[in-house]
Amino acid sequence: MDIEETPVLDNHMHLDPVNGRNVEAVEEFAEHGGTHLLVLNKPSWHLTEAAADEATFREVFDLTVGAVEDATEILPGRAWPVLGVHPALVSRLVEDGHTPEEARDIMQTGLDVAAEYVTDGPALAIKSGRPHYDVDEAVWEASNAVMCHGFELAADGDFAIQLHTEGGEDFTEVARWAEERGLDRTQVVKHYSGGRLVGPTKSVLADTDELEIAIEEDEPFLMETDYIDDPDRPGAVLGPKTVPRRVRWLLENGHDDAVRTAHVATPKDVYGIDTEATLTE
Ligand SMILES: [Zn+2]
Repeated sequence: MDIEETPVLDNHMHLDPVNGRNVEAVEEFAEHGGTHLLVLNKPSWHLTEAAADEATFREVFDLTVGAVEDATEILPGRAWPVLGVHPALVSRLVEDGHTPEEARDIMQTGLDVAAEYVTDGPALAIKSGRPHYDVDEAVWEASNAVMCHGFELAADGDFAIQLHTEGGEDFTEVARWAEERGLDRTQVVKHYSGGRLVGPTKSVLADTDELEIAIEEDEPFLMETDYIDDPDRPGAVLGPKTVPRRVRWLLENGHDDAVRTAHVATPKDVYGIDTEATLTE
């Protein structure tokens, strides 16, 4: 198979229409064979100075919705927004003088708004999680409560949730928390995953070593760059053309099945999207 014959989805990319490369990054992705994008909003503190409240979340989400519309104009397929609250917001709120419980409530409000953008609007899924760095017990508890609130929203609305978490391979407990709230574990996606993961669906960073592990594991997976579109941190993450490049590499090495898994089958199972039907000539 040739790259022109398959959809190519980056499952987790940020676009910043205010300070970033935005459509230029999408053009680079498309020029190298990329067709579909899930676009994550930047953390609320990147785009506005204001403390997080409902209006701030809407402002941040609307910027991403606009960026997605522009991206869809360029792509041979299309883009979808994935909206949510960055888990590190808890620390910023606590540093600002909020209690962990107040921080939890603010973040849950953000997720409520994100869920509304899925149910009544253009978004495909929400994003939550918990800090990837050490925090004290109260902050950890508040973070888990926020994440579980996300599971409830996703279960109620029947949509998927991406998670930003600490590293590791065993997320059985997290998957169980989701299922206790009525959400199938396949609709829980661990973003920035390695090739091996137990529990949620893995969104594997487009790194050749990790992709080889994912192929050996032979389970559903997605591919992503976590491109952050931040002009102050060039090269801090994988660039927009990385997923298409890795797809080429997979195809050159005969891994057509893995490409189909990551770019057609898993997106359909997790999000209910059809990356083939949304591909125009
Ligand atoms: Zn990200």
